[in-house]
Amino acid sequence: MALIVQKFGGTSVGSIERIEQVAEKVKKFRENGDDIVVVVSAMSGETNRLIGLAKQISEQPVPRELDVMVSTGEQVTIALLAMALIKRGVPAVSYTGNQVRILTDSSFTKARILQIDDQKLRADLKAGRVVVVAGFQGVDEHGNITTLGRGGSDTTGVALAAALKADECQIYTDVDGVYTTDPRVVPKAQRLDKITFEEMLEMASLGSKVLQIRSVEFAGKYNVPLRVLHSFQEGPGTLITIDEEESMEQPIISGIAFNRDEAKLTIRGVPDNPGVAFKILGPISAANIEVDMIVQNIAHDNTTDFTFTVHRNDHLSAMRVLENTAREIGAREVIGDTDIAKVSIVGVGMRSHAGVASRMFEALAREGINIQMISTSEIKVSVVIEEKYLELAVRALHTAFELDAPARQGE
Ligand code: ADP
Ligand code: ASP
Ligand code: MG
Repeated sequence: MALIVQKFGGTSVGSIERIEQVAEKVKKFRENGDDIVVVVSAMSGETNRLIGLAKQISEQPVPRELDVMVSTGEQVTIALLAMALIKRGVPAVSYTGNQVRILTDSSFTKARILQIDDQKLRADLKAGRVVVVAGFQGVDEHGNITTLGRGGSDTTGVALAAALKADECQIYTDVDGVYTTDPRVVPKAQRLDKITFEEMLEMASLGSKVLQIRSVEFAGKYNVPLRVLHSFQEGPGTLITIDEEESMEQPIISGIAFNRDEAKLTIRGVPDNPGVAFKILGPISAANIEVDMIVQNIAHDNTTDFTFTVHRNDHLSAMRVLENTAREIGAREVIGDTDIAKVSIVGVGMRSHAGVASRMFEALAREGINIQMISTSEIKVSVVIEEKYLELAVRALHTAFELDAPARQGE
């Protein structure tokens, strides 16, 4: 008999019919004798709808109140699923994050889980009940409702699995596993049987939203066996593993990630003195804005151009800060650009292969795609390009690194 935590995402509980289907599935697992804790997201579109309501009141809603509101999405689904289970003769009980007591810090809209009280859950499991827990939400030490950031139900699932020392955490979604890249953008993308935590962390942090990055961090830290599966199709899914198998067939690149969430800022004609990077980025960080990629170029006339990227939501505030800095240090001009995208290739195989970056640049050059910025780490290479070339770039790289699925007969 195993203890399994199963998380079902928004589309998997997007209608009453689907919730009934999920209940059928959970019932089958129960009949096998497994103990089940189910974590659910809000019905698809609901979180966006709620945020939309808040934005009609204020462009920047008060974070505490936003969390009070968006947490209701998950509260509806847990109750519906518990009802659907009980209707089928499966004893079940639903809990909000507060009721379980998923204790978080007080960073509204992006809270971190600090501790989970597993007593109630264990007692219910012992009494033969399926426990249905609201994803994405917790409570801080003062009793305020908090949420864990978009995609946060994944993290609830993994954190519960860690707290309960579950045999497996299964993330059920609308694709049958983790693919070499988003299968909606590249139809030839292939499902991976396995991917390492390290690679999955990079993929998630570079834009693959199939798993929230914190869920992967948690799973790696607490060694939670984690699998991504399709909610309604049978199949092995993708296992996120620790071991890096040394096999001859290991691909150099495991996956391609991308995101459209960044904006680029350039300050030009900056007098080139020691400390200039600090003068530019100090005020940005003081304004609590995170910087991702950075490039500095030296011109011949002892001035420098300095470019960096921030989250697109922070673009306007970063521009304001930078314009101030430009006046103070006597820079020539400040330019902002939101029409950019970041494309990254990820793979532990890069460690043992030279020339991976140049192969990437060659593939982009062949398509006439200009690279604006580059950054590398041990297992990834990222480039910033013009947003309109994003899909073309991802497809070209997918082919160049031999990730395309073989054509089926008749294609
Ligand atoms: P859920 O609502 O179940 O949490 P999400 O929409 O958050 O589902 O995540 C699943 C989606 O992630 C897929 O529909 C797919 O479009 C996208 N995705 C992005 N990158 C990948 C990838 N490498 N492999 C699989 N899916 C990916
Ligand atoms: N409902 C939340 C969201 O849409 C959390 C989740 O689905 O994981 O981001
Ligand atoms: Mg998700």
